[in-house]
Amino acid sequence: MQAFILSVGDELALGQTIDTNSAWISQQLAAVGCDILGHQTIGDSQAMIETSIKHWAAQTDVLIISGGIGPTEDDLTRQSLAAVLGTGLERNEAWLAHMTAHFTSRGRTMPERNVVQAMIPRGATMIWNTAGTAAGIRATLGKCEVFSTPGVPREMKTMFTRDVLPWVAERSGGAVILQTKLHTFGLGESAIGEKLGALMDRSRNPSVGTTVANGLVSLRVNARCSNLAEGQKQLDETVVACRAAIGDMIFGQGEDTLESVVLGLLGAKEKPITVATAESCTGGWLAKMLTDLPGSSRYFQQGWVTYTNESKMAQLGVKEETLATHGAVSQPTVAEMAVGARQRAGTDYALSISGIAGPDGGTPDKPVGTVCFGLAHAGGVVTRTFGMFGDRDMVRDRSAKMALTMLRFHLLGKPLPF
Ligand code: AMP
Ligand code: MG
Repeated sequence: MQAFILSVGDELALGQTIDTNSAWISQQLAAVGCDILGHQTIGDSQAMIETSIKHWAAQTDVLIISGGIGPTEDDLTRQSLAAVLGTGLERNEAWLAHMTAHFTSRGRTMPERNVVQAMIPRGATMIWNTAGTAAGIRATLGKCEVFSTPGVPREMKTMFTRDVLPWVAERSGGAVILQTKLHTFGLGESAIGEKLGALMDRSRNPSVGTTVANGLVSLRVNARCSNLAEGQKQLDETVVACRAAIGDMIFGQGEDTLESVVLGLLGAKEKPITVATAESCTGGWLAKMLTDLPGSSRYFQQGWVTYTNESKMAQLGVKEETLATHGAVSQPTVAEMAVGARQRAGTDYALSISGIAGPDGGTPDKPVGTVCFGLAHAGGVVTRTFGMFGDRDMVRDRSAKMALTMLRFHLLGKPLPF
């Protein structure tokens, strides 16, 4: 079964209100195995609404419309639907009585202009609205079933859940679409794609796709299946195959974040593992990430933001000679920052970051985005340098994530894979 979703309203077309209805409706339909052909957002123009209804009803099994069934002049969905159906509008006495009683029970007279909300195209079915005065409409247009629902998200959801979704679910024959996400950090989308190979074939079921957000590349796995048990089994098998292809670069699944996974590893032993931070270009970003989740005080002891050479020396014991010879953005400097922080905080680990976040300050051998990382542990200190891509905030965000990734791999007892 295929569906198309149409949102109607000038405020949506103008971008003043974000169309959240379409996203929500899509998720609901997808969960019962319905394919979503697409979404369209249009303004309050009867010509445009008619054109869209005709166009999409000819191509899908179900057309869901939200918006434009209010009582005002600019609410034109019902008139448009009647025009496309080639029928007039007919007063639905049951809904008129319901609305009248609704106003009377509040000690008010129903305004005349609300009467239009009881007008339903002849031959169509009225859908009860338990959350407002806009009755919905269900009509058959050729092979397509058209559902017109309110625009107000709360009313739309109530009506959709009670009267639309069950109709679709019944006709999709118990089909389900299950989904999960696997998250990675450190490799680009194309490198991940290469590793996944045939798993990303467009015709594969469960399908595997990638999305990028905030430096993380996530794998979206969707299993389309005729029943829940089979769908779950296939989803699990594909997740195992993805993990085999990508390995430890996958740090988490579903709602996991890099920081939640790292905190999980720090708390995995009987005695919590403790961490301190020594940051320069990230200005405390790493400490913020480590303290974003409740309960982080068990692991996070202390953080320094040592921006100047003087503070690196005074606060962390970085040697003047190291700074003079190698510079503030260098592996010898981050090594001393990490060791100094670990000693002073008395923690199991310390992470350090020093880099050039830009937009100025780059040199030919240390361009903007050059960031050095240190990780001090009981056995010594490891350091790395990476070239981070993007603007100042991106460099800082990716740097904090890279430091967490270094710690994650160290806690896993594995070498950093890049
Ligand atoms: P309407 O049914 O056109 O009278 O819509 C009433 C109100 O619901 C609008 O003013 C919007 O604030 C809201 N609304 C309508 N459509 C959407 C949508 N697709 N997504 C989010 N909000 C919406
Ligand atoms: Mg509107």
